[in-house]
Amino acid sequence: MSECNNNCASCSENCSERTAPQSFRKEHHPDAVVRRVYGVVSGKGGVGKSMVTSQLAVLLRRQGYTVGIMDADVTGPSIPQAFGIHEKALGTENALLPCTSAGGVQVMSINVLLDDETDPVIWRGPVIGGVVQQFWTDVIWDVDFLLVDMPPGTGDVSLNVFQQLPLDGIIVVTSPQDLVGMVVEKAVKMAEKMNVPIVGLVENMSYVACPDCGKKIYLFGEGKTEAAAKRHGLPVLAHMPIDPALARLVDEGRIEQMESDTLAPVVEVLLSK
Ligand code: ADP
Repeated sequence: MSECNNNCASCSENCSERTAPQSFRKEHHPDAVVRRVYGVVSGKGGVGKSMVTSQLAVLLRRQGYTVGIMDADVTGPSIPQAFGIHEKALGTENALLPCTSAGGVQVMSINVLLDDETDPVIWRGPVIGGVVQQFWTDVIWDVDFLLVDMPPGTGDVSLNVFQQLPLDGIIVVTSPQDLVGMVVEKAVKMAEKMNVPIVGLVENMSYVACPDCGKKIYLFGEGKTEAAAKRHGLPVLAHMPIDPALARLVDEGRIEQMESDTLAPVVEVLLSK
């Protein structure tokens, strides 16, 4: 057994004198400035987690805040594409510098490090976990808000982010079909177990607005997210329609030109904290 340093949080020994649990928290790079950190999570892939992360970044930026996105969805990175970023990140001897979009959003993603952004990431879990950790410890962020686009579900990498980053809260993205399998509730329960505050839920792909009369058509039924939120005492912060114009902006790398403000209530809550 190593000598006691009287700091239970940094010690991994399981001794009888332990007074506090071991902390897995990591420090960010000494030159980085990060004021608030929010994770964007979902129960499964494809529900629009990256779409919500990107839009929140754009809206916060428009309010004059400095914003970064850590693309922790390493096997399905889509943030650089949405922001039209195709160049590689630059590094110094002991640090990585995030890429910056036309509108000033700082982005770090595996796609700005790979030689070819279409290369698949076929690494095992611990390697991917190490990369995400480096996105926190080795990147010189300079932001008021860092948004972490988490991998879907409750796997290893999500667990690492929950343990290693000082999350001020998470935003849970769901779609009405997603609720059937309870996958989103697993993500909610994970945050609850890890004592990370849940800011609220965003329901994506809630409805389609008729282009002629504006009537909202709830393809997958209405009110399901409210019911799940109620079970956990959480607010539903926004409902986002299926909007082909948004999908097109993401595909063309022009999300910063979006006109939608459906996520304005989420930004309001983040700014009120
Ligand atoms: P996730 O991050 O949860 O895997 P994405 O944000 O990458 O999901 O979204 C999956 C696909 O669906 C992307 O092509 C995205 O542009 C599209 N998409 C997401 N939300 C919407 C929406 N509200 N309207 C139209 N397309 C959307």
